[in-house]
Amino acid sequence: MRSTARLLRTLGLGLALALGCTADPEDFAHEDDAEEGDSQYGVDEAAAAPGVRVPASLALDTRGTFYLTFDDGPSARYTRRIMAVLAAHHAPGAFFVTGANIAGNEAILREESAAGHRVANHQWSHVVATSAQFTTFLTRERDALDRALGAPHPRLFRYPYGAGSTAKETVVRASGYPDGGIGWNVDTLDWCFGPDAYCDKVPTAYRRDYVGWVVSEARRTGGGVMLFHDIQGITATNLDSILTRMEALGYHFGALPSR
Ligand SMILES: [Zn+2]
Repeated sequence: MRSTARLLRTLGLGLALALGCTADPEDFAHEDDAEEGDSQYGVDEAAAAPGVRVPASLALDTRGTFYLTFDDGPSARYTRRIMAVLAAHHAPGAFFVTGANIAGNEAILREESAAGHRVANHQWSHVVATSAQFTTFLTRERDALDRALGAPHPRLFRYPYGAGSTAKETVVRASGYPDGGIGWNVDTLDWCFGPDAYCDKVPTAYRRDYVGWVVSEARRTGGGVMLFHDIQGITATNLDSILTRMEALGYHFGALPSR
């Protein structure tokens, strides 16, 4: 176990350096109990790849500030509940919308925008697009968001599963998104916490403690982009508790730049 812990620590440090993360490397010296080596789903070994990293061009202040992001919506069931919590905490959010979910939910997108949140592109279909599909999936959603909002949406893009590539990054930038794919520093793994959805990415100690897990990850990283999903009921239900505890720890919530 010692050697496993050492390996995880080395991977964590390497990840931090590769991500250009501002976390103190010492923070990673306390991860001996971690059972999981990566903090994303679907793409092991690609943590530093385009799509998972947080681009330095965003110039985020990640010391004590978290940037709350919500993927895969809009959800008629949960997104407005999440917006209400954000409003209560005066916290800006970024909603990375799945294009196929836009039709019928345009009013939610306009409400997000009117409330000061970023409405952003998460590709038309939630798949790992082939290079042949990618341009269409990216621009189809870009244009659909602009139509739904009646104005250009902030040019912020995130790949489904963080599955970017150097070739796709070229397409993203050429399509008007200057930062390329926007990844995350903290994966809440909210999709792992449903009643029947437990997955082994969550340490056993937090198996039934979603709020505790997210707060522990906030403390471990100290700031950065935090990945939630507004299609997950567990996030809608617990976001208020999470933000309350983070505020009590002195953390702030920041807005991604509007591009
Ligand atoms: Zn997604």
